[in-house]
Amino acid sequence: MRVHHLNCATMCPVGGRLLSGQGSLLDRATLVCHCLLVETGDGLLLVDTGLGIADCADPKGRLGGPFVGITKPRCDPEETAARQVERLGFRRSDVRHVVVTHLDLDHAGGLVDFPDATVHVHEPELDAALARLTLPEKNRYRPEQWAHRPHWARYRASGEPWHGFECVRQLDGLPPEVLMVPLVGHTRGHAGIAVQGDRGWLLHAGDAYFFRDEVDPVAPRCTPGLALFQRLVAIDDEARRRNRDRLQALARDHGAEVRIVCAHDPVELERAQAAAREGA
Ligand SMILES: [Zn+2]
Repeated sequence: MRVHHLNCATMCPVGGRLLSGQGSLLDRATLVCHCLLVETGDGLLLVDTGLGIADCADPKGRLGGPFVGITKPRCDPEETAARQVERLGFRRSDVRHVVVTHLDLDHAGGLVDFPDATVHVHEPELDAALARLTLPEKNRYRPEQWAHRPHWARYRASGEPWHGFECVRQLDGLPPEVLMVPLVGHTRGHAGIAVQGDRGWLLHAGDAYFFRDEVDPVAPRCTPGLALFQRLVAIDDEARRRNRDRLQALARDHGAEVRIVCAHDPVELERAQAAAREGA
């Protein structure tokens, strides 16, 4: 299966070096929305969706003032998954499956641009997004993004372990080379998505970590701004840290067999895109 690495939204929050680890404190940092477009033998699969075309047209209305004020999304419709799929020569209707790491607004915005796709989701995440029990969850989950009533396919973890993680072995209608790996903490049902592409296993860890060096096998570290941010937005910070530590161990013990990426690190995205271009 061929895997494309797409950036489906760019956010430019203040915080400079505290977030990105480079530049001055006054610089704006750059956060991307790293999504995967996978060519399966039977149509396209999208892993996460970034922001959608409607979000770009009305960011405050659809995403809420606090999110827009803090993260300063660029809201360029050309960055949406829908437009990128078309630029690659496909039709939007070729995207028959979407698998989401979670349903935060910067991951679920593009769902509405693929209304006929089956949306595969870890069941505790769908329950949390529909219930919106707490104020932070009212802000992070936006019902407008699923008002079109997607065809949800929901899963609980079961099946054989994968590199020490519990996982869902088979997603309905998808090949066995696509796995859902629960990594809760950031949200109640957050999950990583593993894809065995033409270059081996790739684990999209979503928001289980934010900075590339957090899973460095030798000297893991995070910038202070992103460390604080992750702690503040986690629904269960202990579970989040435990899962991040398991990802570090995965990188250390199985780095040759499994590449790990997260959703928002621009350098990690560039490296993945360069490796895909070079066939590495
Ligand atoms: Zn996110």
